[in-house]
Amino acid sequence: MSSVVYIDGELVPAGEAKVSVYDHGLLYGDGVFEGIRAYNGRVFRLQEHLDRLYASARGIQLGIPLSMSEMESAVLRTIAANGLTDAYVRLVVTRGIGDLGLDPRKCGAPTVFIIASTIQLYPVEVYRAGLRLITCRTVRTPPSSLDPSVKSLNYLNNILAKLEVAQAGADEGIMLNQEGYVAECTADNLFLVRAGEVVTPSPEAGMLIGVTRNAVIEVARAAGYVLREALFRLGEVLTADECFLTGTGAEIAPVREVDGQAIGSGKPGPITNELHAAFQELTARDGTPIEAGSR
Ligand code: PMP
Repeated sequence: MSSVVYIDGELVPAGEAKVSVYDHGLLYGDGVFEGIRAYNGRVFRLQEHLDRLYASARGIQLGIPLSMSEMESAVLRTIAANGLTDAYVRLVVTRGIGDLGLDPRKCGAPTVFIIASTIQLYPVEVYRAGLRLITCRTVRTPPSSLDPSVKSLNYLNNILAKLEVAQAGADEGIMLNQEGYVAECTADNLFLVRAGEVVTPSPEAGMLIGVTRNAVIEVARAAGYVLREALFRLGEVLTADECFLTGTGAEIAPVREVDGQAIGSGKPGPITNELHAAFQELTARDGTPIEAGSR
């Protein structure tokens, strides 16, 4: 089956799905997006992704031209039209076509497109051995400049950090906030295990509040762990018993090393593995059926 892309209300062959060079999503990164995953015929936490998309849009005063239920149908329809049961979905809303000035008021209707594709997973080796992290010098954008809980199309802050990661030959990078507290990684949230408790940076550290992060908090509490959201510095990471990342693509990815220093045993920890298994069990049963959208 050849792939189709949803764009402004229509499903078109992927090669014909185009946006204008005058689209402010392209010219200025003026827009918002979501990365969503479907497992075995069900879209995981679709409502939560849509809530975050609409909240992100409000954060940049962008009115989405579809209601949330219309958007839900569009997502399901796009996955179904591509014949996918396991998928990675990229949902994008841009400010739309404008002139060469910044002014968003001069843009016409927002552009909405949805790509349903397959997912590029970390190799199994990563889950067996763990990731190598560095601490990035690039500081996470402060909420007073652009709230990092807005999932905007402007990812240059994270991309600059990702370049540091690549230059260091590492797998991922920890981003600190302006006060030196751990915020998140370049495209994932971060968790620690310390003395049997599970700890993750609290939202005031300034980060994207991950859908996976929220699900892992739920899963950890359901498994009986004390789950704390707290402000902490790099030292807490380096001395943790376990460390792992969470994200739609990564699920739960163990960390073995930060800045060349082993974390805990230097291998994926038992609580990390237990939470990953519990998370996978959740993704297997929880979600919006894709067939709902093909009707
Ligand atoms: N932080 C950032 C900066 C991200 O881009 C992402 C999404 N890849 C995450 C955290 C994780 O969010 P989610 O669990 O919703 O994928």
